[in-house]
Amino acid sequence: MVKPFIPDRVYFEPGALEYEVGREIYSKIQAMGIDIAYTTSHNRIMDLPGDNELQKYRNAKRTLVVGVRKTLKFDTSKPSAEYAIPISTGCIGHCHYCYLQTTLGAKPYVRVYVNIPEILEQADKYIDERKPEITRFEAACTSDPLSIEHLTGNLRRLIEHMGKRELGRLRFVTKYDLVDSLLDAKHNGHTRFRFSVNADYVIKNFEPSTAKLEERIAAARKVALAGYPLGFIIAPIYIFDGWQTQYRELLEKLSTSIPKDHYKDIEFELIQHRFTKPAKRVIEKRYPKTKLDLDESKRKYKWGRYGIGKYVYQDIQQQQIKNLFMEAIPQVMPGAEIQYFT
Ligand code: SF4
Repeated sequence: MVKPFIPDRVYFEPGALEYEVGREIYSKIQAMGIDIAYTTSHNRIMDLPGDNELQKYRNAKRTLVVGVRKTLKFDTSKPSAEYAIPISTGCIGHCHYCYLQTTLGAKPYVRVYVNIPEILEQADKYIDERKPEITRFEAACTSDPLSIEHLTGNLRRLIEHMGKRELGRLRFVTKYDLVDSLLDAKHNGHTRFRFSVNADYVIKNFEPSTAKLEERIAAARKVALAGYPLGFIIAPIYIFDGWQTQYRELLEKLSTSIPKDHYKDIEFELIQHRFTKPAKRVIEKRYPKTKLDLDESKRKYKWGRYGIGKYVYQDIQQQQIKNLFMEAIPQVMPGAEIQYFT
């Protein structure tokens, strides 16, 4: 199992200790003997150790900021959910291709929110507005909330809340395996627990500080046995020497670990590797030794919104990827649903 994350330093923002969740986090942090400081805002944290931007970046990822979520207007989260439910931002992982690199700036603290009652109240309003349709909330749009669940307990709160809502559903995705505290949560089948999995080569080379493939698969098995609907996001699907063999092996490993009668509750989401020019610049600065192939000349350019296009695989390679998964998934996991390939 992955070692639970212990931050190097923790900041509390104003009002955080007025909430029960904030006080609980405070007690845990105090018991761990970690330095606690106060800040008026995460934007004002100046004194992170480090002689250069890279060191400060790495230290920011080991810094926890506990705060109150002020904006209670949820972002949309198409296509897999109607709304993003905000419980945390930032992540302890160091995946070279992570999209948070470009969205969170130079100091990507791990921020957690403690006003969960207000956040859930807002979620209930959205559910009411969409009646009689079901409303789905994605909890992992800007972080990997399972990686900090041992400190916050927030996923469990959300899972149990949605378990009681006839028309509310929760979903999140993780690259971690600390699932034990959620196995007996009263989910009522309303939470889809998704694991981001990949070929061994990709995990070993590009996903430092996350759980190993075997650990994620063992966690997925536990989650399936606990009756949760399950999902696998295979992303980014990346072409390297031997990729077809390794992705087939991945699917076989999944199929032998998950009990057969759970296949029908499984959804797959398939996302090919892509990058933008700004992301490439950031990745090369933060992970200068990365083996990630970011050569634009080998890719196809796809126009995007706001004028920032992305580089995806050439059509012929996209077709090869699609063929592999569309053939292999029904073979090894009959009944599982492939939601999309993009
Ligand atoms: Fe980003 Fe997910 Fe990796 Fe965290 S685990 S760094 S959110 S890709």
